[in-house]
Amino acid sequence: MNIHEYQAKQVLKGFGAPVAEGVPITSADQAEAAAKQLPGPLYVVKSQIHAGGRGKGKFKELPADAKGGVRLAFSIEDVVKNAKEMLGNTLVTAQTGEAGKQVNRLYIEDGADIARELYCSLLVDRQYGRVAFVVSTEGGMDIEAVAHDTPEKIQTIVIDPATGVTEADVAAINAAYGLTGDAAEDGKSLFPALYKAFVEKDMAMLEVNPLIVMENGRLRVLDAKVSFDGNALFRHEDMRALRDETEEDAKEIEASKWDLAYVSLDGNIGCMVNGAGLAMATMDIIKLYGKEPANFCDVGGGAGKEKVAAAFKIITADPNVQGILVNIFGGIMKCDVIAEGVVAAVKEVGLKVPLVVRLEGTNAELGKKILNESGLTIQAADDLDDAAQKIVAAVG
Ligand code: GDP
Ligand code: MG
Repeated sequence: MNIHEYQAKQVLKGFGAPVAEGVPITSADQAEAAAKQLPGPLYVVKSQIHAGGRGKGKFKELPADAKGGVRLAFSIEDVVKNAKEMLGNTLVTAQTGEAGKQVNRLYIEDGADIARELYCSLLVDRQYGRVAFVVSTEGGMDIEAVAHDTPEKIQTIVIDPATGVTEADVAAINAAYGLTGDAAEDGKSLFPALYKAFVEKDMAMLEVNPLIVMENGRLRVLDAKVSFDGNALFRHEDMRALRDETEEDAKEIEASKWDLAYVSLDGNIGCMVNGAGLAMATMDIIKLYGKEPANFCDVGGGAGKEKVAAAFKIITADPNVQGILVNIFGGIMKCDVIAEGVVAAVKEVGLKVPLVVRLEGTNAELGKKILNESGLTIQAADDLDDAAQKIVAAVG
């Protein structure tokens, strides 16, 4: 689960991290009152969408030379003018995809005078099995580009869970940034605070890009991106309350209600598979035969007919889906349950696209019989390879 920048800053502030004062607004009428609460004379008007790269983003509805999704404003009138121009429009950034995201909320923030922009993120480093700081002096830039062009400018500092962030860790981070004086002093409280927030709130990622050194020599979290580990959200009611469903894919929201492992993708072959490994293999083989999957969907092992039907309905409701491949290897999952779920879903919502089904394993024969007797137009496949070729051919 992702949250907005202004929410992430609120969370980090609770752990003692230095953030600017700011006010979120959802209508341009609120812009003046929001700006009046801030000291000025520099303000920042920031689009709140669940995607980065806003500063360099472009609004679809505005001329190509219009400013991006993060704007400096030098007076209260300027804040209001920019708010009017931005709210309700669609921001396209390197992370939103071509469709962009509608800006329904702005964060009006007290502007900072920036001396240096740094990069700081925390994540679970799978190689070490520990939380790690990823730090770079190249803040404010696309970190993927830094990793590609100048990987030596990125350092990883792995934290021992038994000790948390030690003085030596802070010294290593400060040294990586070349921080001295007040900034290094601020680092002593900031880096442990970020780690504490990450661990206590079960974050999957915490990215501060940029972390800035201000002209006055102090550190500030200028941008913050947080995502939480979905499997731990049950124990963070306060974080769950920050969820903004309007930012999420409607199909993924519906899937999460059914506890389905479902991720929307850009292709046009819908997949319904059991087991994450088989789901990945199915997506790979679709690509091998020249098409792209429309989704990742793992119905899991113990799904009942209703859950299978829900998954099938989510897949058929996707307008990009031009064909569906059901690929089941029945182990714990029984093939007849899959067949019943598919038949029930089709009875309810119909089927307008080709359907290829490969059933193997527990109760496969029974599953095939249910499908054959259902009157549905189904292409049966013998194995994974055959199934992939058939659906790719059917979609054309
Ligand atoms: P992103 O583009 O979505 O990553 O949004 P950021 O919050 O990182 O802002 C983009 C850029 O806007 C930053 O890298 C800064 O260069 C600039 N910016 C944001 N806030 C301020 C501020 O308070 N003062 C100044 N001078 N620039 C800012
Ligand atoms: Mg940023």
